[in-house]
Amino acid sequence: MSRFYNFCAGPAALPESVLEQARDELLDWHGKGLSVMEMSHRSKEFVSVADAAERDLRELMGISDDYAVLFLQGGATAQFAAIPLNLLRGAARADYANTGQWSIKAIAEARKYCDVNVVASSESDRFLSVPPQSLWTRSADAAYLHYTPNETIGGLEFGWIPDASPAALVADMSSTILSRPVDVSRFGVIYAGAQKNIGPAGLVIVIVRKDLLGAPDARTPAVLDWTLQAANASMYNTPPTFGIYLAGLVFAWLKEQGGLDAMAERNRCKAEALYGYIDGSGFYANPVEKASRSWMNVPFTLADASLEKEFLSGAREAGLLNLEGHRSVGGMRASIYNALGLDAVEALVSFMRDFAARKG
Ligand SMILES: *Cc1c(COP(=O)(O)O)cnc(C)c1O
Repeated sequence: MSRFYNFCAGPAALPESVLEQARDELLDWHGKGLSVMEMSHRSKEFVSVADAAERDLRELMGISDDYAVLFLQGGATAQFAAIPLNLLRGAARADYANTGQWSIKAIAEARKYCDVNVVASSESDRFLSVPPQSLWTRSADAAYLHYTPNETIGGLEFGWIPDASPAALVADMSSTILSRPVDVSRFGVIYAGAQKNIGPAGLVIVIVRKDLLGAPDARTPAVLDWTLQAANASMYNTPPTFGIYLAGLVFAWLKEQGGLDAMAERNRCKAEALYGYIDGSGFYANPVEKASRSWMNVPFTLADASLEKEFLSGAREAGLLNLEGHRSVGGMRASIYNALGLDAVEALVSFMRDFAARKG
């Protein structure tokens, strides 16, 4: 068996030791004679798995008891609808920042339920920069302010947290959660699909300040009703048990790595190594403004776009997988989430250097 370096934007690479543990426990979890996939979600065994996952996530992110942590289904996309349904609480308007393709999708879904005020958009700048908050036009009666801290497709990341007061700040952290420490107390809601930095696709984590619960829209589907799900420890219906189990293994792995301070240091080094090489290469380019470059998703182009196919097939042969950019933007993209170490980035840079020397 050989495992390659996987730069996929999502579903993305998982830590190898986590996959090994899941393999070792697959048929017989902790001597119970069955797989974790085959257990009742209400059994004391599975409840202990879910409780440990929540406890470790709370510890890693410093999430206080003022927040509920939900493990739900339907990915971040289901939450695009859940957010207005749970948070409007009688209001008719919500504020959204538009910094790329995921912002656009969140806005389109919210428009089904309320009047969306786009506070700022970097579309005219081809989503290559984050508009400073001094230029945002907020509405006085918005129930919340939504933004996308890391745009997975464009590789654009906020280096700062917007001020939403007095409204609740809502963040789609799908592709940046757990990449570094974050002050959870600044947020009303943080949500993240699992398949970038947490675990298998399908699971979505919602961290919601408890004072925002209690008044969902009457039409809210039960599975998207945060109040109902919080009252039922995310088990109003059958939760994605295997996803929760694997997420728990990833959280334990993150603690072993030294937690989010250690991950931040490692991720900063990885990003610096890759952007540093790209900027100095004269052959590759990343167009995003320097202060807003993503630590997790690094899009880049080749000096000669006709070489893209050859670049990708050469990379594949060198054991570097999934470097093609999103189908909507083209070019290349290397996603370097927590599970990829500096060795993966060094292997990529080495291939890129060699390719540029041959073709540049
Ligand atoms: C991947 C992603 C999504 C969508 O996640 P799904 O699980 O496909 O619903 C939403 N927002 C961001 C920022 C993402 O990276």
